[in-house]
Parts: sequence; C-alpha cells; structure tokens
Amino acid sequence: MQSRVALVTGGTGGIGTSIIERLASMGHRVATNYRDEAKARAWQARMRERGLEVHLSRADVADPEQCEAMVRDVEQALGPVDILVNNAGITRDTTFHRMTAQQWNEVIATNLGSVFNVTRPVIDGMRARKWGRIIQISSINGQKGQYGQANYAASKAGMHGFTISLAQENARFGITVNTVSPGYIGTDMVMAVPEDVRNKIIQQIPTGRLGNPEEIAYAVSFFIPDEAGWITGANLAVNGGQYMGW
Ligand code: NDP
Repeated sequence: MQSRVALVTGGTGGIGTSIIERLASMGHRVATNYRDEAKARAWQARMRERGLEVHLSRADVADPEQCEAMVRDVEQALGPVDILVNNAGITRDTTFHRMTAQQWNEVIATNLGSVFNVTRPVIDGMRARKWGRIIQISSINGQKGQYGQANYAASKAGMHGFTISLAQENARFGITVNTVSPGYIGTDMVMAVPEDVRNKIIQQIPTGRLGNPEEIAYAVSFFIPDEAGWITGANLAVNGGQYMGW
C-alpha cells in the first residue's frame, strides 16, 4: 500500500495510541495533536522506544484556528493529509436535569465541533488530490443513548449525520467518510467508571468482556486501503454484540 500521511486526533489516548500504531504498521506517516507538552513528549518518547516516530502538533481540537494551524504544521512536516481520524473526545457525565451549560458546551465543542475544525482544513486538499479517508470515532452511546450522557450521546450521534452528509458530497472525489462506533473499551475513560458500574456494563456485553483499543484500530484500518474505496457513509459497530441496531 502507498505510504500516506495520517492525522489522528487524540492520538496520545488509549484508543488513539492503538490507531497510530496500526496506521504506522501499514506504512503510513503519522501525526497527532497535544495540549500538554510534557505529557505529549513523554508519550512520544515511549513511541520512539517502540520504533515509531510520531509528529506532534499543539492544538485544542475545540478551537478552529488552532486546528487550522495544526493541519498546516503537519502538512509542512510530513506532507498532505490523506487520512484523517477524528478520535479526540471527552465525557462530562451527569443526568440532564443536573447538567450545566458548561458540561454541555465542552462535550459538544470537543467531540462534535472538532470534527468541523479538523476536517475543514483537510477537505480541499483531499478533493484536489482525488483521494481521502475520513473516519470518525463515535460511540455505541451515540446509537442507543445512555443514562447520564445526553451531552455525549448527542455529540456522538451528530457525528453520524456529519459522516453521511460528507460522504455524499465527496464520493466523486475519491474520498470516503465513515464512522466507527466502539462499545466499551478498557481505556482510562472506562476504567474511570466505578467498578460496580463497570461490572454491570460487562454483564450486558455478549462477548463477556470489554473491548481492546487494538480492536478499534483494526476497524479503522479496514476503511483505508484502495479496496475499501466503495465503502462510504458506513457505520461500523465494534461493541462485542452489545448493540446490534444501526
Ligand atoms: P482517552 O481519554 O484515553 O483519550 C482521549 C484523547 O483525546 C486524549 O489524547 C486527549 O488529550 C484528547 N483530547 C480530549 N480533548 C481534547 C481537546 N479539547 N483537544 C485536543 N485533544 C483532546 O479516550 P479514549 O482513547 O478512550 O477515547 C478515544 C475516542 O473513542 C473518544 O472520542 C471516545 O469518545 C471514543 N470512545 C471511547 C470508548 C471507550 O470505551 N473508551 C467507547 C466509545 C467511544 P489530553 O491527553 O490532552 O486530554
């Protein structure tokens, strides 16, 4: 497969790290963003120990100007971005009647606003080059909703509307746009949930276990080769059978 430039937002996190490793193992040059310099450099050093060079660029994905600057920086360092994985995300869980405007706005701006902020500066180049892969990391809870996650579920469901619209607009330009919807994965985000709640979640998963970040990375990689060029506007659920609807 041709070596391309892949930008993965939130690449220093649990799922993002696996996506970066997977894309690099496919021969692609990889980049991600960071907010905390010291944390990011420590992560970059760990990746180097594994023989992997990742370009780092500072950006808060909720900020459009920082995202524009990040894309230009990545392009200057590695070349045009052909593969974009919109992975950065946060939770601010609470039931809606207790939710503050700040909890709502932070989640929408980070999880959904970022999809505009990072995709907008890469789309023109992909259209001009007539090749591109854009993959959103949504969530099972964007498909089925979740008690205490009205903000998160709304942001993740919004990604689906974005995906299927962008897929239609860009299909004739060799650009595919798809979503991966993970179920519960054993990263910091899920390990932060109280153990009794986590155990109840596991009981609802037919496979009887949490997923691994590598299993999400594998699903992302599925959309990238030229052979996947006719798959666009799809949502790939990777959730151990916990939710089998659309
Ligand atoms: P992590 O918390 O491990 O990683 C999240 C990453 O996003 C971090 O690198 C974090 O950077 C980055 N990030 C968050 N906010 C911003 C921001 N404003 N600007 C820049 N970067 C930001 O989460 P996961 O790896 O578990 O999750 C990755 C994605 O998968 C998320 O979108 C999540 O919603 C989704 N997902 C996760 C599931 C799970 O079970 N873990 C299930 C379903 C979906 P920093 O270190 O600076 O905070």
